[in-house]
Amino acid sequence: MNSATTLVAGIGELVTNDPAHGGPLGILRDAALVIDGDRVAWTGPASAAPDADQRVDLAGRAVLPGFVDSHSHLVFAGDRAEEFAARMTGQPYSAGGIRTTVAATRAATDEELTANVARLVTEMRRQGTTTVEIKSGYGLSVIDEARSLAVARQFTDETTFLGAHVVPEGTDATSYVDLVTGPMLDAAAPHASWIDAFCETGAFDADQARTVLEAGQAAGLRGRLHANQLGPGPGVQLAAELGLTAVDHCTYLTGADVDALRDSGTIATLLPGVEFSTRHPYPDARQLIDAGVAVAIASDCNPGSCYTSSMPLCIALAVREMRMSPAEAVRAATAGGAAALDRDDVGSLTPGARADLVVLDAPSHVHLAYRPGVPLVAGVWLGGQPLS
Ligand SMILES: [Zn+2]
Repeated sequence: MNSATTLVAGIGELVTNDPAHGGPLGILRDAALVIDGDRVAWTGPASAAPDADQRVDLAGRAVLPGFVDSHSHLVFAGDRAEEFAARMTGQPYSAGGIRTTVAATRAATDEELTANVARLVTEMRRQGTTTVEIKSGYGLSVIDEARSLAVARQFTDETTFLGAHVVPEGTDATSYVDLVTGPMLDAAAPHASWIDAFCETGAFDADQARTVLEAGQAAGLRGRLHANQLGPGPGVQLAAELGLTAVDHCTYLTGADVDALRDSGTIATLLPGVEFSTRHPYPDARQLIDAGVAVAIASDCNPGSCYTSSMPLCIALAVREMRMSPAEAVRAATAGGAAALDRDDVGSLTPGARADLVVLDAPSHVHLAYRPGVPLVAGVWLGGQPLS
């Protein structure tokens, strides 16, 4: 354990997400931060900064908590660029496209899958993501789901068993749910922290999703759910009823769905890269936030409906297309994502939190939305260490 202390000085704007500092982001100006080992030890005005073993000066740049991407599907092989090109010329997205990736993933070796995840995680880190959740869901057999999760576990503890992504060819939904909740869950659970299902027309109905989620919870996994992405449906209310940590997509919601989310405290994870990449309508983030629903933003990085790994892009989309303020979007991409993973050690920069930092080549967090598409992430610190 490296216990040397580092004073990070010259921070023009420090986003702490600490409510004690006021506003949605707990911003400190002309600030400094001290790192001890892998943790934040102190934050405050630069003029009051304590001594440390070493000192780094950021010359007025903004510092944010590392982004927490609470929804991704990085374990796959191949891509679907042709499907995307076809969709952009008028063909609709359907859940069945997943099967193309399933075939490629099953044919790939463990080494090929690992190399692809490593490539994407590196890509994410360069764009400021310091915590990532990774799902299975392109194996859809006992052996391929288990090895997908074993691959994901090399990169994060936030691994999610999504055997109930789509019903694979050659079986029916009832038989497949039996497999998912039986031998597949047994093989997957040692490598997974979370259980998930795709509750959508063309994937799994509410009864099937409930069966999967309850089996996973009985095996010690915590629940999250894909719901209400392609149209209205029962998934959001199922997630609220089961007390799941998060329900993801939330594009088509009724007033009763919004009430259920507010009352349950289940986090609504919005994935605006999907709507961007499928030309679907965006979720109504304003309605959710104004109703008091806790909101996260994540990438949903996957080869079909949304092949971006960029949280800065998702923040820009949330502001431009979902009418979130820049502060709301940044909070949703940091503290929101942490809440969606039930984590209190990431997503904020307060004493005791992990020293996962994003340094922007800009004076404030607003520039993430104000300057879309510009590579503003000038540095990333992971557990107190700068990434080279
Ligand atoms: Zn997803």
